[in-house]
Amino acid sequence: MTTYFSYPSQELQDELRTIANQIVAPGKGILAADESVSTMGKRLSDIGVENTDENRRAYRQLLFTTDKEISSYISGVILFHETLYQKADDGTPFVKLIQDLGILPGIKVDTGVVNLMGSDGESTTQGLDDLGKRCAQYKKDGCQFAKWRSVLKIGKNTPSYQAMLENANVLARYASICQMNGLVPIVEPEVLPDGDHDLDRAQKVTETVLAFTYKALQDHHVFLEGTLLKPNMVTAGQSCTTKYTPEDVAKATVTALSRTVPAAVPGVTFLSGGQSEEEASVHLSAINSTNIKRPWALSFSYGRALQASVLKAWGGKAENIKAGQGELLKRAKANSQASLGKYVSGSIPSLAAAKSNFVKAHVY
Ligand code: 13P
Repeated sequence: MTTYFSYPSQELQDELRTIANQIVAPGKGILAADESVSTMGKRLSDIGVENTDENRRAYRQLLFTTDKEISSYISGVILFHETLYQKADDGTPFVKLIQDLGILPGIKVDTGVVNLMGSDGESTTQGLDDLGKRCAQYKKDGCQFAKWRSVLKIGKNTPSYQAMLENANVLARYASICQMNGLVPIVEPEVLPDGDHDLDRAQKVTETVLAFTYKALQDHHVFLEGTLLKPNMVTAGQSCTTKYTPEDVAKATVTALSRTVPAAVPGVTFLSGGQSEEEASVHLSAINSTNIKRPWALSFSYGRALQASVLKAWGGKAENIKAGQGELLKRAKANSQASLGKYVSGSIPSLAAAKSNFVKAHVY
């Protein structure tokens, strides 16, 4: 085994490091608005709105025309391909609206999950074939970072060695291709919360998945200082009958990360994974209040936990745009405070139900 390697040029390293650090600047996190056409359809159908190009565009326009205050809390927004090329009513491209807010545009580059043969319902994620070409184009079109989601399940026979190895390798290939094209890769190995497993099992599985992931990133010479990690928080399975406190979740989460995520990684931006908006803020704040050593920024990259109330307030009606934007500002502010360990439970009430079908649907 030789140990030959060649990292990116100093210039590219500096560029990637700067972008990654900008995303996890103190008090800032990511709005994940990268729902695919079909997933957005489910979100819209929950509020009785038809899944048309125009309705998807109108909804995203609401998000990207929110008051400038949003840029105090949000540093990056992840887009779906279709959204990247859409325009506001007055013809301004969405990318420009986002850039004018001082927010970095990012792009989802995976093309979804497929089953792994011989596994117990496990998956890998597709999209590597033409990834270099697509990344080069996205960079030209204003994107500064990308996202790729792998999915792991906790069950009697899962996650398997096959699934952990395969998904780690695919994430590492994706990360290296992004970096070659000047995009910061957000590495997302999501361990789903479905099941009745307890907190200890969730922690051990998360640790193992992250250990596989960082071994693969190292094997592929990925420049860690120019990456971000988007993991699940360590929570007990959604059907587990034991109740855990936010402090228990925080301890399990930060312990798992501290055992597996190199200190060179600038930041961790958690997904919300079916938590209610309030839970996601309370947990993030507890995570940023533990006394366990934390060398990375710990922030958010929430989809559902930033948008459930927005969609509910908007309801597809033009006269409710301001109300929807008000909800986005509220949740973004709550999570900004949480990323600094300063969110006080219940201080920014959420409009959306504690647990709706919306937050339970783990598709993207
Ligand atoms: P959540 O809805 O779980 O926050 O998802 C964010 C995301 O981007 C998942 O890939």
